[in-house]
Amino acid sequence: MEKAKVVIIGSGPAGYTAAIYAARANLAPVLYEGFFSGLAGGQLMTTTEVENYPGFPEGITGPTLMENFRKQALRFGSILLADDVVEVDFSKHPYIIKGKKNTHEALSVIISTGATANRLDIPGAGDGEFWQKGVTACAVCDGAMPIFRNQPLFVIGGGDSAVEEATFLTKFGSKVYLVHRRDQLRASKIMQKRAMEHPKIEILWDSEIIKVEGDDVVRAVIVKNVKTHKEVSHKAAGVFFAVGHTPNTAFLNGQIDLHDNGYIRVVPGTSQTNVPLVYASGDAQDHVYRQAITAAGTGCMAAIEAERELSARGLA
Ligand SMILES: Cc1cc2nc3c(=O)[nH]c(=O)nc-3n(C[C@H](O)[C@H](O)[C@H](O)COP(=O)(O)OP(=O)(O)OC[C@H]3O[C@@H](n4cnc5c(N)ncnc54)[C@H](O)[C@@H]3O)c2cc1C
Repeated sequence: MEKAKVVIIGSGPAGYTAAIYAARANLAPVLYEGFFSGLAGGQLMTTTEVENYPGFPEGITGPTLMENFRKQALRFGSILLADDVVEVDFSKHPYIIKGKKNTHEALSVIISTGATANRLDIPGAGDGEFWQKGVTACAVCDGAMPIFRNQPLFVIGGGDSAVEEATFLTKFGSKVYLVHRRDQLRASKIMQKRAMEHPKIEILWDSEIIKVEGDDVVRAVIVKNVKTHKEVSHKAAGVFFAVGHTPNTAFLNGQIDLHDNGYIRVVPGTSQTNVPLVYASGDAQDHVYRQAITAAGTGCMAAIEAERELSARGLA
């Protein structure tokens, strides 16, 4: 079994940033990039332009940005493994990290496995169809793009984040339709009031989008009323899924504290989990901001905290 001072799990902005910092602190981090668990490089591999990551005034594509993160991690000596972690054992120190192909004994562990934006299986909305050509899962990331300006936009969902996304999109769209399968929202009362009173938001109750249509980009959606079965075609430029995220934490198998929604619980203001020398960064522990820059920031925090604690224990 190989030994490592730091094992990082996950290869999004959080994991690679943790690797850059840990490598530059001479800790020779081992990073499990994932293989079957998702694209190495994380969620930004599925997007086109990233316009809000500082340092790139003209924007940069998600895959290019992540390739840059990866090169920077390699430059300082990180060891990158195309492998998925399937099991961890935090019951005794050093901890055991088991991949499909590799196993490590780790003095410290940084969990950066991210989250997956939930999507619905709607004809026209998938990869190779209009996904990323008007269909997306992140209003904050994509809402300001020119294709959405002064156009009708559709948000799918009924919770707080759906209302938040719809309200955010009113800055850009000519009108925002909130499409919800039921006759009432799950969102908190205050958020419901905000949606219902907003002059640019219209809620389509008891409704679902059954098809997304277009040419190069989205041009229309077919909305079906689930009670009357009536189908109406609406002009549309954007479809935003706001149906939740699933944090990639199932493989931890109850060995660290999670919130009820599956996100990793950390000591506020730190990346420390309830297990000593086990840290969490990025979307796996953040259901609030979910941005590349915050993921990278917490990856940096985790590496610094790991280095300090290893040094304090004479293990660095
Ligand atoms: C379509 C889309 C567009 C977006 N656009 C923007 C944008 O413009 N700007 C912005 O700031 N944010 C954007 N975001 C959000 C941003 O991508 C995330 O906040 C960020 O990627 C989170 O980084 P992370 O490192 O926490 O995890 P992720 O990017 O989710 O990466 C996690 C990695 O961990 C790996 N992994 C998971 N489980 C395991 C395992 N068991 N073993 C090994 N590896 C594992 C996965 O394969 C993945 O590579 C967008 C998100 C989406 C979905």
